[in-house]
This record gives sequence, structure tokens and C-alpha cells, in this order.
Amino acid sequence: MPKSLAHTPRSLSLGLAAVVLLTVPVAERDADAFGLPMQPMNIQLREPGFELPLALEPGFFTVPGVVNWLVDRLYAPIELRVVYWQVENDSSLTHLSALWGLESSQLLELNSWLEADMTVPAGTKVLVYRADQDRPAASIGKPNRGKLNNGLPFPEGPFWVLRENRSREWGTELTIQTLSDALMAYGRQYPAGPKVLVGEISKRTGGRLTPHRSHRSGRDVDLGYIGKESELHGNWNRVTAENIDTEKTWFMVKSLMASGQVQSVYIDRELQLALSKEAEKELSPEELALIFEYPKRPDSHLAIIQHWPGHRTHMHVRFRCQSWNARCNSY
Ligand SMILES: [Zn+2]
Repeated sequence: MPKSLAHTPRSLSLGLAAVVLLTVPVAERDADAFGLPMQPMNIQLREPGFELPLALEPGFFTVPGVVNWLVDRLYAPIELRVVYWQVENDSSLTHLSALWGLESSQLLELNSWLEADMTVPAGTKVLVYRADQDRPAASIGKPNRGKLNNGLPFPEGPFWVLRENRSREWGTELTIQTLSDALMAYGRQYPAGPKVLVGEISKRTGGRLTPHRSHRSGRDVDLGYIGKESELHGNWNRVTAENIDTEKTWFMVKSLMASGQVQSVYIDRELQLALSKEAEKELSPEELALIFEYPKRPDSHLAIIQHWPGHRTHMHVRFRCQSWNARCNSY
């Protein structure tokens, strides 16, 4: 593998794959110069179902080893137990701590080279979390009254966008793991995106998180809907039955529910009707009734997806309590 690419951030990998495909050897002698095997463009990538998000002219040549390496990096498991973060602007330690909801003393402990009065330059990689197996993350009490002990931060990844302020992106291990797995599944299905917006989860220690009523115990997450139009991506605008991308949004919801770790999802009724039409293509009426509150049926109140006012711009996902944690209260 080319050394210069070895430390490329994951989010750039797909773009780089495209650049490599377009610019790396188009003639055999170039491939010889790299000492790499040549193969026509219609190579089989190792990732089943992976489609390149670019239409390439037949006749282009590429280097399968490089492409497969980039694809592997893009889909590598996300590290949750040790989380580094790249500082965006020159910042004081106090500012960085506030951005992550940490105490300055915790950042100093995690990064022994940091000093209390220094300005941390943009581009610096700072360790913001290291799991302690003796102190597992634990949701305590109810989502609208509880708190969170030893929360995990939601990690960066190639297929989603996090809020800049990370002090409200902490959850239980079950929440963080299940959500990142579902987002990776989405990325495998739709590598060209759009990326999913990940909203607020909980504060590092849980408790009140205005303006939400819940989001207090590390089990609630807000996720953006996936829209058809490009102006809907990257913001939290209202989505309608006309402009929601039902195929991609349903895939995301389905991936979450397939984990068996989702307790409930709140989605506006108009959008539920649009999504249930998409789900009808693969589910029986009985299965649909277990999942969607709308269209209304006598036992609709038992469905996993429920209407709740205020969910036209995002869906709200509530994850289950972990079975070992008797102090976690489902509702
Ligand atoms: Zn919410």
C-alpha cells in the first residue's frame, strides 16, 4: 500500500478511492512503475454489494489492491473504547474540555503531554476517552428523570455527521455500539450517502438536557431523516412525505430495529405513512402492524414506531436497558 495514504482520515477514504480510480495508472507502464498487477475496470470488489458511486468509462484501468485496501479502511470496525479527536481551531484546554463536557483535569490525565495553560494548536490529536472495564457505562433511572454513569462518546465515522459540540453525544455502550453498527450498515448499502445527521444523545453524566424532556440517561438519540433533495442534507429542516427518501430512511430504521436493541422510535405520522408504504414491499401486514402506529389499527399503540409531536425534522430512537443493569428503568 502507498505509505502516503496510510494515515488518511477515514472520511476521506471514499473520495480518495475515486481519485485513485481516476488518476492512478491508465496505461500498463504506469502500473509497472507501481509494481502492481493490472486488471480491467470491472473488477470484483471484496465487499459484496459495494457499488462505486461514480460512473466510469469502460476502458479505465485500476489497481485492485489499492482499491480493496481503501474499501477495507472505509468499512473497518469503529473503535469505541479509545477515542481520539482532532482539534479544529487553536483552543485553550478549558474550551476543549467544555466542547466535550469533560473536566480539564480529565483531559490532562488522558494526555500527559498537555499543560493547563497551553493553547492546543489546530490539527492536534487529543485522547478524549478511554474505556475502564471496571467502570462500565450505566443508564440509571428513566429517560426523562435519570442520569448516565461513565458514558461513552459517539465516535466519528465515514457515513454520519456529528454536532460540533460533543458534550451532548454520550450514551451507554449498547446505545453507541448499536447506533454505529446500524450507520455502518447504511454506509455499506449506500456508500455515496447522503451522510446521516446524528443529533443529541445525552450529556456525559446524563441529567437534564434542554430543550429535551428525555435524553437524560444515555438511551435517546435524535437522527436526521434522509431527504431526496440535496438542500435537505446537512441541516435539520422539516421533511415531508414528498421529499423524504423513503428507501434510505426505511433502510436506516430497519437496520436499527434488526439489532433487537431498540425499544421505540418516534416519527411524525405523515412520515410513518410514507415509510410504511416502502416497508410494505417486504413485510407482511402482521409485521407492519408490529412496527408502525400508522396507518391506525386497534392495537397501534403497541407498535415500535409511534407518533410524537415535534418529529418532522428528526426521528427519536430510544434504546433498551442493558439486561445486567437493574438500575435502568425502561420508561
Ligand atoms: Zn429526541
